[in-house]
Amino acid sequence: MSNRKRHSDEAGYIAERMNPIVPGSKIVIYEASEQLIDVDGKRYAVVCDAHGTIAGDTSLPRARASMKAPWNFCDDCRALKGDE
Ligand SMILES: [Zn+2]
Repeated sequence: MSNRKRHSDEAGYIAERMNPIVPGSKIVIYEASEQLIDVDGKRYAVVCDAHGTIAGDTSLPRARASMKAPWNFCDDCRALKGDE
């Protein structure tokens, strides 16, 4: 399994960023319908590559905020970060 897999060629790809919690892993934003991800009808899907966690967001600014802070939607990232 490679952490260096490319996402930019995938269907619905919008953006990606390194996971601040899991070195070498990424958080990716997709247009949910194009990537065939069902996130309760929300337009954008944010995926934690390291843990396979998926969150839905209704707007791109919200999706980008999730991408920058995966501990807000990924329990495993939250556990790694340590809790407030
Ligand atoms: Zn995670």
